[in-house]
Amino acid sequence: MTGPRAVRAALGARGWPVAGAPSTLLAYMFPIEAIALVWSAVAISRGAHSSLRELASLGLLIVIAIGFEEGSRRSARMQIRMSSQLRTDMTSVWAVAGAVALSSSLAVLLLGAVLVYDWFRHQRPAGEDMYRKLFVVSTALIGCLVAGVAYREFVVLGHGLPWALAGPLPVLLAILAYTTVNRLLVTVGLVLMGVRGRGLLGSRDDNLIELATLCLGGLVSIAVLNEPWLAILVIAPMVTLQRGALVRELETAAATDAKTGLLNAVAWEQLAQRELSRAVRENYDVAVLIVDVDRFKLVNDRYGHLVGDKVLRGIGRCLGAAMRQYDTVGRFGGEEFVAVLPEADDVTAMIIAERVRARVNQLRVSDLVDGLAPTDDDLLAVSIGVSCTPTDGSDLQDLLHAADHALYGAKAAGRNRVQLAHRGGGELPERVSHS
Ligand code: GH3
Ligand code: MG
Ligand code: MG
Repeated sequence: MTGPRAVRAALGARGWPVAGAPSTLLAYMFPIEAIALVWSAVAISRGAHSSLRELASLGLLIVIAIGFEEGSRRSARMQIRMSSQLRTDMTSVWAVAGAVALSSSLAVLLLGAVLVYDWFRHQRPAGEDMYRKLFVVSTALIGCLVAGVAYREFVVLGHGLPWALAGPLPVLLAILAYTTVNRLLVTVGLVLMGVRGRGLLGSRDDNLIELATLCLGGLVSIAVLNEPWLAILVIAPMVTLQRGALVRELETAAATDAKTGLLNAVAWEQLAQRELSRAVRENYDVAVLIVDVDRFKLVNDRYGHLVGDKVLRGIGRCLGAAMRQYDTVGRFGGEEFVAVLPEADDVTAMIIAERVRARVNQLRVSDLVDGLAPTDDDLLAVSIGVSCTPTDGSDLQDLLHAADHALYGAKAAGRNRVQLAHRGGGELPERVSHS
């Protein structure tokens, strides 16, 4: 056996949870890990003669890193448990500080020591995947080694520059080199994991935190080169930064329905209220949809609740994909979803609702759950109630009430259909049925 499957089997045989990873991702990660390993080994073997000062700087940075790790233990573990993707962490601080203030060999030892400590102290107890960790370590090592080379090259090149530039410029370029290399390697990995669009760029907050860690890395390195003991001052800002990142993730988690990944009912209502206020200010219509899965109890009875949960997640994704980019879907509760559609009059809302109904009606339980064979009767369906400003009211509760009433009508009329609140008869407006 050769190629990616062999890599997966080899890693899997050691009990690492890589079985779920796509084989292209593993084929990408393996060479990067090999490059990181070989380059680190070469750097260490060449750095046998470090000065006492350099060794003292390494010791100091390790002490500071452990001080930070211990100070941020609880928030770090919580963050790991909550996060499903490569999380923002503080590795950049040590990578940049090592690249600038230490030789390549000692920078590798610093990063290795910090990351091994982090793994045994936080990540392993919190159940972090080993294959993910190895990849993150490898990208950090490669980034750090490239940054070190960039720093030393620019120190030499900068000799002719005025003092105001000769000092800071190499540090800034080392930061730039580290973040460019690291981002590039991680972004390709994320693409292979199936992440697209905004997920690749990260949120504004994520990028700000990353920038803060890079700046702290630069400041620590300058302290180590000039007044080593002052580098200890970095511990408190780092712990605070880590807590700030955790608060941001907790906010997101508090607004998210864990089962479907959609907004939960409270967060959706807040967003819908804001949308309605804006609609009044800017004078446009807003529609509200309530979507209820038809005969969902039968899905649970037939396949079990775990399959039922996967079906709910799949339907949630399908709803989002069938709507416009600026419509917002939430999970209302149970097997009911809600959506708010800004700038949608009754005809537009009915067109969108009908599109949603038709898309869900093409989904099968067996499409959403691995290992299930398709059957004649595993097609899914939803009924949808639609209400719209101003006819059904301008208050969210009135709109929800009207949409719920229409949904009840759609169910009574035989399910797998859309009903508009103020029409009562369950028929689509003429323009919709021809669209
Ligand atoms: P109808 O067409 O009239 O809507 O029929 P229904 O079976 O969908 O409606 P009913 O209200 O009788 O049943 C809803 C079912 O949804 C019952 C409940 O067990 C299931 N359900 C609610 N929340 C969840 C959940 O989070 N996961 C799973 N698997 N099932 C859920
Ligand atoms: Mg229901
Ligand atoms: Mg139902």
